[in-house]
Amino acid sequence: MSAMELTVLGCSGSGPGPDSPSSGYLVRMDDHALGLDLGNGTLGALHRYVDPFDLDALLLSHLHPDHCADVASLVVYRRYHPTPPYPPTARRLPVYGPLETADRLGALCSASAAERAEEDLSDVFEFRELSERLRVSVGGCALRACRTVHPCESYAVRLEHGGRSLVYSGDTGACDALVELARGADLLLCEATWPHTGPRPPGVHLSGREAGEHAAAAGVGRLLLTHVQVWYDPADLLAEAKAAFDGPVEVVTAGATYRV
Ligand SMILES: [Zn+2]
Ligand SMILES: [Zn+2]
Repeated sequence: MSAMELTVLGCSGSGPGPDSPSSGYLVRMDDHALGLDLGNGTLGALHRYVDPFDLDALLLSHLHPDHCADVASLVVYRRYHPTPPYPPTARRLPVYGPLETADRLGALCSASAAERAEEDLSDVFEFRELSERLRVSVGGCALRACRTVHPCESYAVRLEHGGRSLVYSGDTGACDALVELARGADLLLCEATWPHTGPRPPGVHLSGREAGEHAAAAGVGRLLLTHVQVWYDPADLLAEAKAAFDGPVEVVTAGATYRV
């Protein structure tokens, strides 16, 4: 059994930056491939690693565009590819997301209000609702989720495979449920959007220090920081996280792959 590998398709917080698309990740193990979010620009990066037809499933933490905008381009790829490996209608891609996912992505893919009524995307996707009660196997991984603290319905997810565990925070402010979900995980991929000093509206994002505090409280093996906004210096957030968490910490970069 192969180990889980996490590849960063994009990690720029709240929107794409000069060095990275918005948020999106690829998790691979054995013959499986899972997408974790698909923000602006990440579909192009995904092509470097797998054919998008080969995804087992796509998990969307929430429906802010920096986490799901490229789903519109994935629809085009799956629907109009001239030589697909199989008819998309015969193997629809499972898309896990918040309650409104099908409706909101349908609107995203529509060019007009009149067209929207027909744009249900069910020819290419099979929508499944993320919830805290969900206990399923997705692409060879056991999946669990918890609600996070963000202005819209948002989730963190925990993936387990071959005795290893990866937790992705999605977007969140300070969140006890994230600490519980991440307890004892081998790797926590955690958002750290802004520095602890400066304007920090509550219930939206974590600072570098808070990401470190969540990792320490959960007792994770390793912390990877992501979702740093383009106008902040990742080194500052890394220093904050290191002051709060004794284990290994890095700021991820687009294109990097990490063994879980
Ligand atoms: Zn975001
Ligand atoms: Zn968000």
